[in-house]
Formats: sequence, C-alpha cells, structure tokens
Amino acid sequence: MSPEGSFLWIYHSKNPEVGDSSTQKGWWFPSWFNNRTHSYPEEEAVDKGDEQRKENSEELQLSDWFNPQKRPDVVTVTEWKAPVVWEGTYNKAILESYYARQKITVGLTVFAVGRYIEHYLEEFLISANRYFMVGHKVIFYIMVDDVSKMPLIELGPLRSFKVFEIKPEKRWQDISMMRMKIIGEHIVAHIQHEVDFLFCMDVDQVFQDSFGVETLGQSVAQLQAWWYKADPDEFTYERRKESAAYIPFGEGDFYYHAAIFGGTPTQVLNITQECFKGILQDKKNDIEAEWHDESHLNKYFLLNKPTKILSPEYCWDYHIGLPSDIKIVKISWQTKEYNLVRNNI
Ligand code: UDP
Ligand code: MN
Repeated sequence: MSPEGSFLWIYHSKNPEVGDSSTQKGWWFPSWFNNRTHSYPEEEAVDKGDEQRKENSEELQLSDWFNPQKRPDVVTVTEWKAPVVWEGTYNKAILESYYARQKITVGLTVFAVGRYIEHYLEEFLISANRYFMVGHKVIFYIMVDDVSKMPLIELGPLRSFKVFEIKPEKRWQDISMMRMKIIGEHIVAHIQHEVDFLFCMDVDQVFQDSFGVETLGQSVAQLQAWWYKADPDEFTYERRKESAAYIPFGEGDFYYHAAIFGGTPTQVLNITQECFKGILQDKKNDIEAEWHDESHLNKYFLLNKPTKILSPEYCWDYHIGLPSDIKIVKISWQTKEYNLVRNNI
C-alpha cells in the first residue's frame, strides 16, 4: 500500500476509503473534483446529524444564548448580523444543555508533517483532549507523514482519534495548502457521516482553557490576533489581481486566521473545495498567494460570510502582550521556530 493511502484504524469498525490522494500526479491536479460525488457503500448512508436534528426540532435562537451588550469594548456583531463570540457574551449553561440534548459529535482535524510531529503534536493533542468540547463526543483526525512517530496519548472519556498517513509535500507552503484538498477528501469519504461539526486547526498552538460549544456554527471563522483592531486596507490580503485570492483595497471585513476554521461538514467541505480551487488556479497561473491557504480562506469568507466569528481570545499570540479586551485565552500560539521545523525556508 502506498503510504499516502494508508490509514491507521483506531475507532470505528469500518475502514473508509479516502479519495484519490494516492494518485501519482502532484496533489494540485484536479481529478479530486471529478470524484466528489463518489459514494462509499461501506459507509452508512444516514447523516447522523440530520437524523438527530429531526428529533430535536426546537432550534436555539441567537438571543437565547448570546448577549452582545456584555462586551461594549469590542465588536460583537458583524454588519451581516453574525455573532462575534467574546468571553462574557455567551450563556454557557443554556448552550450546554441544548447541545447535550442534541448528542453532538465534534471532529477536529490537525496535520503534523515532518518535524511538526515531534515539535508540536503531543502538546496540541494533550491540551485538546483536556479543553476541546469537554463533555461532548470528539473525534480527532490526525494527519501525519510518519505514523511511527505518533505520540502515545491517553484520551479522556468521549474522545477518540483516527490517524492517517499522508504523503509529505516538499515545500512547507504546499504542506500547508494541501490540507484543503485532504480535509475535503476525508469529509466526503467518512467525516460527513461521523460528526455534526468539524474544526480544522494548525498544530503549532496549545489549548489553554475551555474551547466549548459556544464556538459551534454553520461556518466559523477566527479573527487573527495581530489584526483585529486594524483597518481592512492594512490587512495582508492578497493584493495581486492575478491571484484567485485577490481582494482589492476598499474591500474586506476582517482578517481571518487559517489556524482555526470550522462549521458543519457540508460547509467545511465547501470552504476547503473553494479554497483548493483557488490554489489550483494560482498553480496554473504560476502565482502563489502571499499567505497561501490563509489568503484563499480570506477570499472565501469575503464572498461567503461566516455565520459565526471567534474573538482573538480563541487563538491568541502572547507576543502581542495581554490587552484588557483579551479576558481568557482559549488557545495560544506556540513560538514560531521556522528554522527548526520547516523543511525549506
Ligand atoms: N504543517 C506541517 N508541516 C510543515 C508545514 C506545515 O505539519 O512542514 C502544518 C501544521 O499543521 C502547521 C500548518 O500546516 O501548523 C500551517 O503551517 P504553519 O503553522 O507553519 O503556518 P503559520 O502558522 O506560520 O502561518
Ligand atoms: Mn500555525
């Protein structure tokens, strides 16, 4: 079996087949897009989320759990009326009882390729086990290029993980970008049948406090800690017209951080497919967006507004300091040690 296609079974009794990533072509060739309606008969056809939503038809209203006035110091509602979740704005008890009744399962994808495995993965997983969606079912989807380096982690109750071996790209830029392709393939192949919500995260960060159900939504974007107070014209969007990620000056809502995004499997599939299309188009035109997958994600969320935004408390860089509007740090960045972890600088 080619290493790219191999799958270390840990949790479910069925062995899903994943996409066409074992193709001999480079990952940027778009055969994946022709393949996405492929059905996987070995998987149950039922979407577990839909089934349960039918039983629990009472929907939670935004005003039931969200009070933007609790944080007058910051932006808590977007122009398109989406909540920006800051500490203090949400009622945890109401959310917890609602989602407990829904019996949700939340997925979390994380990639660790090359030295990112030994450098970051263990701390990421130990902290995620402790703080991510505590009290709810969680499946960690761990993508590594060498399963033999997988740290041994003891998970708490309701937590499980699946490890997949993927082919490492040569350039770190491609490792980062190809996540969009691989996540999409895994959603189609199995994740859509396994979880109600999915988050996708960078590995070079550590959970510091509860990252709970207040973050769940149809499509969820993360404010980038360095830019949340800046004017959109200062954002490091891709500014070259030739790139699919191009955003002209005068446009843009927020600068979103690609280290965390999420939503329902259907929405995350759309996010990853659209971003990957942009990446492919750029490859064809021999251009690479300044901030890689993040540039394409920002373009996506400009065109498809997120239904929920997470404050920088959810992904904070302590190198900024700790301003008074950051009440509780849920996840903090690891120090960037690119010279130690990246294969090409
Ligand atoms: N990544 C990896 N190995 C690499 C480069 C990237 O595993 O050689 C994954 C890893 O999950 C990492 C993410 O891609 O967190 C994005 O890369 P990085 O965190 O270096 O980007 P930055 O946060 O600096 O934008
Ligand atoms: Mn990162």
